[in-house]
Amino acid sequence: MTHASPISATIDFDHDGVRHGFLKLPHSHDGSAWGSIMIPITVARNGDGPTALLTGANHGDEYEGPLALFDLARSIGDQDFTGRVIIVPLMNTPAFHAARRTSPIDGRNLNRVFPGDAAGTVTEKIADYFQRVLLPMADYVLDFHSGGKTLDFVPFCASHVLDDKANQDRCAAAMKAFNAPYSVTLLEVDNVGMYDTAAEEMGKVFISTELGGGGTARAETVAVARKGVRNLLKHAGILDGPLEEAATIHLDMPDGRCFVEATSVGLLEFCVELGDAVTAGQCVARIHDVHRTGGEPTEYHSQLDGIFIGRHFPGLIAMGDIVAVIAVPT
Ligand code: CA
Repeated sequence: MTHASPISATIDFDHDGVRHGFLKLPHSHDGSAWGSIMIPITVARNGDGPTALLTGANHGDEYEGPLALFDLARSIGDQDFTGRVIIVPLMNTPAFHAARRTSPIDGRNLNRVFPGDAAGTVTEKIADYFQRVLLPMADYVLDFHSGGKTLDFVPFCASHVLDDKANQDRCAAAMKAFNAPYSVTLLEVDNVGMYDTAAEEMGKVFISTELGGGGTARAETVAVARKGVRNLLKHAGILDGPLEEAATIHLDMPDGRCFVEATSVGLLEFCVELGDAVTAGQCVARIHDVHRTGGEPTEYHSQLDGIFIGRHFPGLIAMGDIVAVIAVPT
């Protein structure tokens, strides 16, 4: 049987005006028998028009999205806008407060549990609410990501290769409007359970980002996030005015050769900087065995001619970790 979502919104989605409230998710636990998780939300509406659904902290240790979206929630009422903007800066609120990628309550990764389950764990209940309540309201969906504690990226906006080519073109146009320093067309290798896939399967215009990482945010990457969300709202016709445009480098990630994977463990040394051009066969990183002296480090090579756009962030690396991500200019 299909359960109703246990989540209730403390504000309504349909009236004109700007409202700040919560998505209230009952959570009975040792510290609060009748407690609830309170997920902050802002709904701004002005007449009929498109709806944009904007989210940050799908992964709790990624900060550009929350910074840009708390800012937008504060300021949207001061601007002329048409239609509706739904802002959830902390999609996975428990993970955000724990400064973790995944939820400290059930250990689940919100971006791998879609379509969710109204009778499931806390994270599955959040996914279910987005799947059945929020996504159906939206025309444009922007989900902010960054690298979190374990990855770091050049700032890019991404859209996916989709079976629905008409929607792929609409998503690519939205990515172009976001106008991050890099724009990446991504073939998602493992898209099962992702919010992205849920939105795209409903035919929504969906874009996401990777704006930095390392478990922090920088002035430059936060500025990219703030400009990008304004540009998306202009592209959607929700905000007035011309796009704020700067040069963007278009990149493709065609297949698994974009990823360089660790098959040894130890101390990680990069031989190139993020944003550098690399050639197929070029050494991009070395992993040093730290259990004994006298050994040679293992070299890791790019499999493509391209740009070095992402890297493992911590100094230590384990088997199977992504060392480097290479994308191809188009
Ligand atoms: Ca992420």
